[in-house]
Amino acid sequence: MNKNYYEKILNKLKDYFGNINRIDEDFFHELIKAVLSQNTTDKNSIQAYNNLIKIINYDLKNLSNDKYYTKVKESIKIAGLTNQKTKTLFALGKKFFLNQEYLEAEKRIRKLEVSEIINTFLAIDGIGLKTISCAILFGLKKSSFPVDTHISRIVQKIRNKKISKKNIQLEIENSIKDREKLKALHLYLIELGRNICGSRKQDCQVCPIRELCEDYRSK
Ligand code: SF4
Repeated sequence: MNKNYYEKILNKLKDYFGNINRIDEDFFHELIKAVLSQNTTDKNSIQAYNNLIKIINYDLKNLSNDKYYTKVKESIKIAGLTNQKTKTLFALGKKFFLNQEYLEAEKRIRKLEVSEIINTFLAIDGIGLKTISCAILFGLKKSSFPVDTHISRIVQKIRNKKISKKNIQLEIENSIKDREKLKALHLYLIELGRNICGSRKQDCQVCPIRELCEDYRSK
């Protein structure tokens, strides 16, 4: 694989899709969004997030207070996996918001190496590599490359081989160090997966990266 392979992919996608904007929040709000987004649509996870934030009175500390448990569970129903997601949110709340403001907790986390942050959060039930990587990329604004199902499918197509999500993440993080570029590539590949390179149908004739796609070139 050419050293600049993923940079080339990024440039082609940027030319095709133009700028994609995403407003990033702080670490814990991004982490909560990522937990709620597991196995559901963007629309449902955004609705669940808005319901949740309202029900806890916009105060993350309330995720450490069992009085809110049932209300929170009810508020995020639309995102599915309600029992697991509620447990995860309260595990986060009790670990990080019980005795400190969430921005204080974020300050401490920010001082850690990315690998330490990943290990700290993978120890919490319901938080996987993609979830914590989203919070690192969007919330901490540090270099990280979360791999969702769209990205996993597309990268295996363009590389024309089976690669685990973890190895895709490592491969791309080794190729691109700049956080803004990683963020852009993440968003563009999801856009490509939604509009052109779907799981059932790939519209290769209009695909902006077909010349770099080993699956396409092999046909
Ligand atoms: S050329 Fe086809 S298979 Fe390759 S990334 Fe584009 S749409 Fe997917």
